[in-house]
Amino acid sequence: MSSSRIIWSLDHERGEKACFFRRYRMEKEQAAGVNILVTGGAGYVGSHVVEELLKTKKHNIVVLDNLQKGHREAVVGGEFVEGDLADTDLLDQVFAEHSIEAVVHLAADSLVGESVEHPDKYFRNNVTNGLNLLDAMVRHGARYMVFSSTAAVYGEPIETPIREDHPQQPTNPYGESKLFFEKIMARYDKAYGLRYMSLRYFNAAGASPSGAIGEDHRPESHLIPIIIQAALGQRECVTIFGTDYDTPDGTCIRDYIHVTDLAAAHVLALDALAQGADSNVYNLGNGAGFSVREVIDMVEKVVGRHINRIEGERRPGDPAVLVASSQRIMAELGWEPKYHDLETIVQTAWDWHRKHPQGFGS
Ligand code: UDP
Repeated sequence: MSSSRIIWSLDHERGEKACFFRRYRMEKEQAAGVNILVTGGAGYVGSHVVEELLKTKKHNIVVLDNLQKGHREAVVGGEFVEGDLADTDLLDQVFAEHSIEAVVHLAADSLVGESVEHPDKYFRNNVTNGLNLLDAMVRHGARYMVFSSTAAVYGEPIETPIREDHPQQPTNPYGESKLFFEKIMARYDKAYGLRYMSLRYFNAAGASPSGAIGEDHRPESHLIPIIIQAALGQRECVTIFGTDYDTPDGTCIRDYIHVTDLAAAHVLALDALAQGADSNVYNLGNGAGFSVREVIDMVEKVVGRHINRIEGERRPGDPAVLVASSQRIMAELGWEPKYHDLETIVQTAWDWHRKHPQGFGS
């Protein structure tokens, strides 16, 4: 046998063995579940991700959240650790004590307007602290991550609906911070084999149909809960941020996706990674756009009350239209939204806010 054939057969044998062990590990993971760290698991999307992960009755969940914006009551199960991603000693402790194998990373700042005023905060929390997390994963041998990304990575769309290969030119530091982190993850995959799936959320909305958790930001800045607060008499009116956009009614158009559908996509992404899937990015939206005026009309319909609206200035950093194509995640991971119509989304939000008029702790 020539030396090159001997080398080939040794490589081939190693390859077969590697395949066998990978398959063995995957089957074991599917049967036994995985030790998963959810950062930001006390936040709006994070708490719904934890709820969906618990439904699988398969994984061991550890939630890490600094509770600056999250709520302890929003964490409906798993083990809770209060702490910050800036604390690398704490990260080492959590990874070691819980033998963390996979991460869902949602801990981040996520307000467009604030990011324009305080870019330092966004780059520090979303990029530097995220790097601490990736480094802890490498140190402790955790193998994959599902990352909470955003439609803000695209900036002003050139084509709608937006596909994942659309040019990425964020118009604000929030979108930039998330895009930087996606690039960092791609480099960590190449260098350290740390696989990831980045989920680019469009507008998360609604509340869990279980009634246990919902949206509670303090102060509230998101459109649907703000309109509901107006409906509940907690504010006098809703201000429409900009009425001179190049859209049919002059107001911004967004793609609202139910938070439970969004959360379910994280579970699918984790399962795919456990089964050896390669790194990828996926959009998550419903593919239908609604203007700010249309959303206010829908809340009026669901709630059955008149809502005062006033027309204000544009909010810096807001693109006119953001509507997703989510064909890739549907085709590749079999994601299917269950609560895709705006009326159902608003209804679940209203059900939660009506029962929790002051949010968590009401
Ligand atoms: N918006 C608005 N008034 C508000 C809050 C939001 O007109 O009080 C608009 C905002 O400019 C955007 C849309 O509603 O076009 C959705 O904003 P939100 O903050 O809910 O989500 P974002 O699109 O920033 O992720």
